[in-house]
Amino acid sequence: MPVIFSDFDGTISMVDVTDVILERFADPSWRQVENEWTRGEIGSAECLLRQISLAKASPNELDALIDTVSLDPDFPGFYRFTKKHNLPLYIVSDGFDYAICRALKRAGVDGELRNGKHLFSSALHLAGGELRASFPHSKNSCPHGCATCKPAIIRRVRGERRPVVFVGDGLSDRFAVEEADMVFAKHELLDYCRDKKLAFTAFETFGDVQAALAKLLCEEAGEHELALGVATQEGF
Ligand SMILES: [Mg+2]
Ligand SMILES: [Zn+2]
Repeated sequence: MPVIFSDFDGTISMVDVTDVILERFADPSWRQVENEWTRGEIGSAECLLRQISLAKASPNELDALIDTVSLDPDFPGFYRFTKKHNLPLYIVSDGFDYAICRALKRAGVDGELRNGKHLFSSALHLAGGELRASFPHSKNSCPHGCATCKPAIIRRVRGERRPVVFVGDGLSDRFAVEEADMVFAKHELLDYCRDKKLAFTAFETFGDVQAALAKLLCEEAGEHELALGVATQEGF
């Protein structure tokens, strides 16, 4: 039985929610900071810290904007699928807990996710119209300067010898895929995996991920029956 880790922005949500927030509320210089990160000059923690400090919004404005974000229409069904099959699902994200929980809740998925349990992400603080970021899951030992160090979380959470499935879409996932036994990739992550010759399965929606995992579970069940059959025969 695999453990599933998924990115949020652009993977579960159709757009990058942090980009949407910055686009609407931040000084346009946030894009220059983004370019520094894309070029690999700074880690995502420094990137987000500087970017979000360029933004100003009231709580109502922020909520209204987050409520325009739609999720992959297949994600709620995928979430039920993981529950039904007891597949542990963790969201690992450089994005902000507040936005992630609000968007999930609106889509009828568990919006009560506590940061640090099944959600590992950056934290957003609002005070007097100022936005601030903090990073409860960054690691001093992280060599990448991650806001949320996805590979470190995967190593800690995966448990003994459980295969890891990772689902993602972007540059923030490039360190996480190294820890995964099975990668579902789209967009920039797909190009990255292709360039680095890492094995991956291309996906468009969580319906594709669900179909592939359902097939895997069927095969596992088949092998299990086969193994039991052999054991019984040996017993005789
Ligand atoms: Mg992403
Ligand atoms: Zn890291």
